[in-house]
Amino acid sequence: MKRTVHCPACRKPVSWEDAPYRPFCSERCRLLDLGRWADGTYRVAGASAEPEAAAAIPASETPHEPEPRS
Ligand SMILES: [Zn+2]
Repeated sequence: MKRTVHCPACRKPVSWEDAPYRPFCSERCRLLDLGRWADGTYRVAGASAEPEAAAAIPASETPHEPEPRS
């Protein structure tokens, strides 16, 4: 009796004993899955930090309130 697993990449049933790339059905699926993980790990969304337009904030509008003296 053979044990069957499902390829994590393509969900195809794979016989455990016959699959050299288990739990994947093939080397292609294995690499595909590894690549997907690498993408998610190393390519962080928004990593390209754009300089924010913080300098565009007008500083002249700062209210100069008189200090309360009692
Ligand atoms: Zn597969």
